[in-house]
Amino acid sequence: MTSPRKSRDARSLRPATQLIHGGTLRSRFEETSEALFLTQGYLYDTMEMAEARFKGDDPGFIYSRFANPTVSMFERRMALLEGAEAARATASGMAAVTASLMGQLKAGDHVVAARALFGSCLYVVEELLPRFGVESTLVEGTDLDAWRAAMRPNTKTAFLESPTNPTLEIIDIAAVADIMHDHGATLVVDNVFATPLLQHPMKLGADCVVYSATKHIDGQGRVLGGIILASEKFIADNIHNYLRQTGPCLSPFNAWTLLKSLETLPVRVEAQGRSAERIADFLAERPDVIRTLYPGRSDHPQAELARRQMSGGGTMLSFEVAGGKAAAFRAANALSIIGISNNLGDAKSLITHPETTTHQRLKPEQREALGIGPGLLRLSVGLEDVEDLIEDLAQALDKAAAPRRHAAE
Ligand SMILES: *Cc1c(COP(=O)(O)O)cnc(C)c1O
Repeated sequence: MTSPRKSRDARSLRPATQLIHGGTLRSRFEETSEALFLTQGYLYDTMEMAEARFKGDDPGFIYSRFANPTVSMFERRMALLEGAEAARATASGMAAVTASLMGQLKAGDHVVAARALFGSCLYVVEELLPRFGVESTLVEGTDLDAWRAAMRPNTKTAFLESPTNPTLEIIDIAAVADIMHDHGATLVVDNVFATPLLQHPMKLGADCVVYSATKHIDGQGRVLGGIILASEKFIADNIHNYLRQTGPCLSPFNAWTLLKSLETLPVRVEAQGRSAERIADFLAERPDVIRTLYPGRSDHPQAELARRQMSGGGTMLSFEVAGGKAAAFRAANALSIIGISNNLGDAKSLITHPETTTHQRLKPEQREALGIGPGLLRLSVGLEDVEDLIEDLAQALDKAAAPRRHAAE
């Protein structure tokens, strides 16, 4: 196994180049496309070699629960993109989130998190960790005083997502990181909505970044995966052994799929972001749309922070239609190109009604606090021609509004 033949330090390359050449491990066959090493184990020439490898004196592979060449290529490429010293891939985004928290925490510790969390992340923080003696506090993520007030002597780590799901609020990552570091705590950022191209939490002070690779990184609706990125020390102290011994490892096949997906990530995120911006502008002009939430628009409540923290508005937007749940359902049901699905980051545009799907489990007052009303729809903008998407939304909104118009006539 050899590294890229003409060795230029991949860290000095720009992201699009890193995502095509970075982290490649070529076999002796010098294949152009990354190889898929669908293997559980590895042979040793001698017992002496096996002994050295188990001791850590020989850096080769031992067992694919610990490491695998295809999985390593995905980790190396993601570490370059994120500017992180180390990365560990996992079977899903939730495996990455769970490991990034469980790996750091023990009974008696305290964790603070923004209350606007992906449903399963909320389960881990609010229900799972307390079962093991870790207390948790949920705060309004955009309120820095709330983060400060939540700190306790035993606060070990904090967790947040920005932009948030589904209302696309922006949390000031650098400010929260400062609060944590002042108290000797760490910050973990789930960077899924921003994508690794548009926001760099570690440069803003986060200690650890996690992704569901299932979303934009695959971006074609095929495999699940996740990844944890941090300093060598953070990974060594908190993550390395936890993952090795508990086994939520990424399948080499999924790693291979994700590795190939990274080659096109910048092209996809840019095109999807451009279309999202166009669609947000279109929706904002519609009289039957009460509000349009898109971090790239100047009317976003935190437009200035979004500009400071992100290099683009992203591929996700949410909007509230007049007429509540009935109108939202009529509009979504009338779409012919945009599909109804809770997934996101896909080449296919997907729409969901958070109140009745992703956020159904929340109590009504929790939903209200998060701004998730009955008319709210969340749209993940795909790679279709944006004119077709706008026409699809226009005809669906027209149909959704029709009964109301008749009633008013
Ligand atoms: C999807 C998602 C996850 C979980 O990822 P899986 O790959 O589905 O396990 C975590 N956080 C956010 C923000 C997500 O969108």
